Amino acid sequence: MKKGLLIVLSGPSGVGKGTILKELMKDESLKLSYSVSMTTRDKREGEIDGVNYHFVSKDRFLEAIDNDELLEYAEFVGNYYGTPLDEVVKLREKGRNVVLEIEVQGCKQVQEKINEALTIFLVPPSMEELENRIRGRKTEPEEIIQERLAKAEREMKMMDQYKYVICNDDIDLAVEIISVIIKRYMEKNS
Ligand code: 5GP
Repeated sequence: MKKGLLIVLSGPSGVGKGTILKELMKDESLKLSYSVSMTTRDKREGEIDGVNYHFVSKDRFLEAIDNDELLEYAEFVGNYYGTPLDEVVKLREKGRNVVLEIEVQGCKQVQEKINEALTIFLVPPSMEELENRIRGRKTEPEEIIQERLAKAEREMKMMDQYKYVICNDDIDLAVEIISVIIKRYMEKNS
């Protein structure tokens, strides 16, 4: 059996990565499996351990780095985030196309290790729209919102490292475009 694809989906906080992924995952023909990351950040309301993230202590995260358990990792607004390697390898061996929803430093590490990764960067229609979306979420205090917005500005400058840059102006359209790209890659890979 052919190994599944490795797909990286990035974009600034609030751009709508989660919503788009949820839609993409509904299409079984894309054979997508979501890679659950490890993080040291606090659980948000409604998030489930082992589903949204593996929520761990800083000590456990540092141990995972030391043991080479992570495909990539990064610090983002004061917390660590990383992709457990084992899970990604197993899923790809089963023919699943694994999606990593990670930030730009992590994507860089993935590209250095896995040249053929399909990397996609989502951009908001404007920075004002992004700010509205982050504020609308009402999950973080003002200080964190400011940090996430500053981080978004920096991340937007790194979009040229990605194979595809897609504007999330219309969710259905963005989902359709990404589906087409994934299907093309699946054909090439078969
Ligand atoms: P959030 O706290 O909003 O869930 O995530 C913050 C940022 O961390 C987002 O840009 C998200 O894509 C990124 N992220 C989530 N998991 C990982 C991971 O495993 N590795 C890296 N490098 N970034 C991640």
